[in-house]
Amino acid sequence: MNDTGRKPLLLVALGGNALIRKGQKGEINEQFQNLRTPLKQIARLSRRYRVIITHGNGPQVGALLLQQESTAGAPRLPLEILVAQTQGQIGYMIESTLDQELSELEPDNQQYLATLLSYVVVDEQDPAFHNPSKPIGPAFSREEAEKLPYRTVNTAKGYRRVVASPEPITIVEKREIRRLIEAGFIVIACGGGGIPVIREGRGFQGVEAVVDKDLASALLARETGVDVFVIATDVEGAALNYGKDNQEFLRRLTVSRARELLAQGRFPPGSMGPKMEAVARFLESGGKRGVICSIEAIADAVAGEAGTEIVGG
Ligand code: ADP
Ligand code: MG
Repeated sequence: MNDTGRKPLLLVALGGNALIRKGQKGEINEQFQNLRTPLKQIARLSRRYRVIITHGNGPQVGALLLQQESTAGAPRLPLEILVAQTQGQIGYMIESTLDQELSELEPDNQQYLATLLSYVVVDEQDPAFHNPSKPIGPAFSREEAEKLPYRTVNTAKGYRRVVASPEPITIVEKREIRRLIEAGFIVIACGGGGIPVIREGRGFQGVEAVVDKDLASALLARETGVDVFVIATDVEGAALNYGKDNQEFLRRLTVSRARELLAQGRFPPGSMGPKMEAVARFLESGGKRGVICSIEAIADAVAGEAGTEIVGG
């Protein structure tokens, strides 16, 4: 473990589908099983890279909201507490599965792992608080969605609940994460985009929102000096005219082209938009490599053989 300082730093952001696949209900055994696909690859990659793992929580935080809405008697928990809960539940599942995969690779595996509760500072005045855009929870049909007591948005997966998703400003635990990385830990952090907080004097106050995990991951990548930033999701990468007859998979594009396409609104908010934006921000702030790929192709994407790679220029 004493050569860790010389290995490049890799950040892999896992989408909600790393745990729940299309068409699955999200039974816990399915979620553990699904996690093996990315974590087997990450276990191998950890021999050549220092690793940070971040993850989404859209399906899980939505499920917690539904659960508390369907039970009377217990006090209502605000969204920020539910985000904290998902960092615990998903962090536990990732950490234990990764430990298993590392042990399968090397029976006397001694790799240090740590899941860190992470806050992310947002701005109280962020216009997103008046304009919810982040889809969470299960997908509904249009008829079902019309009967729901909250706002929904039509996504590629169906109608989903939307909540406020303010811009992440800084990751509160960035120094702790850097320290853990320097000490040879694989760190799981910024789950669900981080627990959204605003500054209050010298302390923090949680707020009712869910930060986009792709944007939070890009920020963490910048604040910890990541070399390779991978966003793993349920499609092989970004496409133009997604879902249409003339769909065109993007294999490689420059940041300036990505900016042009984003400005033209070619990637929807709440799904591919923030991924493209996240990789663009990472590269613009001095990052070297950024790739959007499928959960199955993380290792290939790191090798430069899969996904949508965005390059400087
Ligand atoms: P994650 O949980 O990994 O963040 P999202 O649902 O937020 O997943 O984003 C991935 C989804 O983005 C894909 O399943 C796909 O339906 C959708 N999508 C929308 N536009 C595009 C596009 N232009 N190219 C590829 N996928 C797209
Ligand atoms: Mg997403």
